[in-house]
Amino acid sequence: MTPLFSTLLGSILLGACIGSFLNVCLSRWKNGGNVFFPTSSQCPRCHHSILWYDNLPVVSFILLRAKCRFCNKPISWQYPIVEISTALLFALSFYRFPDLHSLINSFFFGSFMILFFVSDIKWKLLPHPFTNFFILTGLFLLSPNPFQHWFFSIADFLILGFVLYGTTQIIPQGLGGGDIKLGAGLALWLGLPKTFVVLSLAVGLCLLVVIPFLLMKKVTRKSMIPFGPFLAIGSLLIWFWPNLLVKVGVPL
Ligand SMILES: [Zn+2]
Repeated sequence: MTPLFSTLLGSILLGACIGSFLNVCLSRWKNGGNVFFPTSSQCPRCHHSILWYDNLPVVSFILLRAKCRFCNKPISWQYPIVEISTALLFALSFYRFPDLHSLINSFFFGSFMILFFVSDIKWKLLPHPFTNFFILTGLFLLSPNPFQHWFFSIADFLILGFVLYGTTQIIPQGLGGGDIKLGAGLALWLGLPKTFVVLSLAVGLCLLVVIPFLLMKKVTRKSMIPFGPFLAIGSLLIWFWPNLLVKVGVPL
């Protein structure tokens, strides 16, 4: 096995394990539990402790045929989907960011986007612990954005946070606290120009998805559409391909 292949394989396995941890974060946040204690997870239906060999990312889901060993109730498809998505994002990070610092940043960034994507689809909100930790991690890594000095990243974070907060004071029903923190956090991680590109991309993606549903009358103009998943997809596209829109001919 070549060193390159073994490192890629290591990234995929690490991604699957982190994906499993993200599932724990998602399920325990909803139930108000601690992420780290107890160390063993429980079946959400029969509350039986899950054995270690039933907790292997993706593999256990397949071996158990998507059913709990004890109560035989179905296991949510969210578990393998999050684990496989995280593994794929980690593999893509390995491919796109050869240096260790950017690679670690990319692991964190991809993991947070999966948390935001799933939580906003499931509960139509971005939990404060996730957005807070997203900002704190950006600050701790100091220079998550490889294109500019950390001082400007913090300035971008403050500017966008102030602008988004000001917007909510004028249009109170527009954005929630989670949206403000995610937007400001993106400015910290990506810088202002790329964050504006992400916002435009997210609006475009949202319209592409929502307009057909509007035409089919499956949703109305008053329906609450979660914007977080579109922000997460737009952010990942710009994170991995910063010049994506320029390449497809959008003048920036
Ligand atoms: Zn069970």
